[in-house]
Amino acid sequence: MNRKLNGCANKKLFGNIIIISAPSGAGKTSICNAVISENKNIVCLVSYTTRLRRSGEKNGREYFFVDEIEFKKMIKKKRFVEWAKVHGNYYGTSKATLARVLKTGRNVLLEIDVRGGMNIKKLYPNSCMIFIMTPNLRTLKNRLISRSKDCRKIIETRFSNAKKELKFVKKYEYLVINKNLNDAVEAIRIIIKSLEYKIQKRIF
Ligand code: 5GP
Repeated sequence: MNRKLNGCANKKLFGNIIIISAPSGAGKTSICNAVISENKNIVCLVSYTTRLRRSGEKNGREYFFVDEIEFKKMIKKKRFVEWAKVHGNYYGTSKATLARVLKTGRNVLLEIDVRGGMNIKKLYPNSCMIFIMTPNLRTLKNRLISRSKDCRKIIETRFSNAKKELKFVKKYEYLVINKNLNDAVEAIRIIIKSLEYKIQKRIF
């Protein structure tokens, strides 16, 4: 190995960005929680949202819950690296937090919608894009109903948006079908592990 290569091959500049998108009910949050619980080198960024807090959710854990006025102020002050209106609510990723975590060299998991995913990919072309889906739409609908997180009207909105979100699958690099939680977690883990070997992450 030449000297320059030898000296720099293992130096990592920044962490990787891993974008995870999925229709509502596909199991994205359960999968991400399992992935980060076993890997201290991955941080899941907490987004800001105007969505109402569901029972059991804690401010600063699932999201930073803010009202629309506050969110729009944050947009004006350019506090978001990306933001989108999803299922009628605003969601955004903090620019400062993302930059801070990336500098530590840790990997950042962004659980964001498809438009957010596209925007991050434009800004950070090395980002890894993973799409999660259930084996079929019927399973997705059943999961949306059985998890009892939302009322009927919201379930309908989320289900009809799922069909639109699926059109973006081709823009993603990986598709993980969540038939079984453990298998899906393992698949994501393998994809993340493979990023350690990507050539463009190294300095030559
Ligand atoms: P939920 O209300 O079910 O927690 O999330 C609804 C959707 O918003 C999901 O697709 C989720 O990935 C997306 N989302 C959450 N945080 C962000 C964010 O910061 N930016 C964008 N663009 N989407 C987000």
